[in-house]
Amino acid sequence: MNKSVTATPIPGRHAHTTLTAVTRRLARPARWLAIAAIATVLAATATGTISAHAVATATRPSLAAQPGSADAMTAAAALPLKGKIVGIDPGHNGRNHDYPGYLAQQVWNGREWEDCDTTGTQTDGAHTYTEALFNFRVASYLKADLLKDGAKVVMTRPNNKGRGPCVNKRAFILNHAHANVAVDIHADGAYCGGCRGFALLEPVADGPNDRVIRSSRTFGSDIKAAMLALKRMPVSNYDGTKGISYRDDLAGLNLTKVPKILIEFGNMKNAADVKLLTSPTFQQQIARVLLNAIVKFLK
Ligand SMILES: [Zn+2]
Repeated sequence: MNKSVTATPIPGRHAHTTLTAVTRRLARPARWLAIAAIATVLAATATGTISAHAVATATRPSLAAQPGSADAMTAAAALPLKGKIVGIDPGHNGRNHDYPGYLAQQVWNGREWEDCDTTGTQTDGAHTYTEALFNFRVASYLKADLLKDGAKVVMTRPNNKGRGPCVNKRAFILNHAHANVAVDIHADGAYCGGCRGFALLEPVADGPNDRVIRSSRTFGSDIKAAMLALKRMPVSNYDGTKGISYRDDLAGLNLTKVPKILIEFGNMKNAADVKLLTSPTFQQQIARVLLNAIVKFLK
């Protein structure tokens, strides 16, 4: 059970409704609103029906409190990412396959020329599930979670219905946004018997990314620990060493000026992995894994 996963119906919705009614009746002073809200949250927490969003919403009246006051500290705890910018790059795009010429254009990745992008991989069989869709779904769940925790979110593409942008431009978008941290979301497509599991692709110093190598590795450790704690997808048994692969051939890692990790969340050619990767529940769980790693990293 992951009670804080954002799904419909939203677990904290009832607490939110109750809170609104309570705060309307009290109206003034604002401090009473905060106290009533926190009491509602505590009651809901005791019954296990609260979500992080409800906590954040419930404690919002205290945001007007004096800095350093108990109310202000409560608000900071409710919105752990307030003032932070998080970049999300959902790899590929849903219609890349319609634009082979666009994908083939050459872009400089910091070390060499490479294709603008690829179509990404997909599951085999009659009901194909594309990597581009998987990436976008996880990104969307993550974005929603981040917003609820107070972050500003920058995505490299707004939907799964277009093409591109090219891999170098994705890095530039996140650099220009001055993201405090960023994730590139992918799934792998290796054909090899029994190959499965998640892998972290980490940058190698090459000039532009020199200042974020160490921080990216710290962030990678946070993600790996959170993935292992989830106990659903095993660490990769073929990509890198113990699921960590240092890559100097990817624009997203070579050109980054913000701490960044590319995650291959599983292998879309492995039946056991496919079962997880195509599950909305698992997608929401790994979005939550990323959220927890981001909160820990930015603390
Ligand atoms: Zn990919």
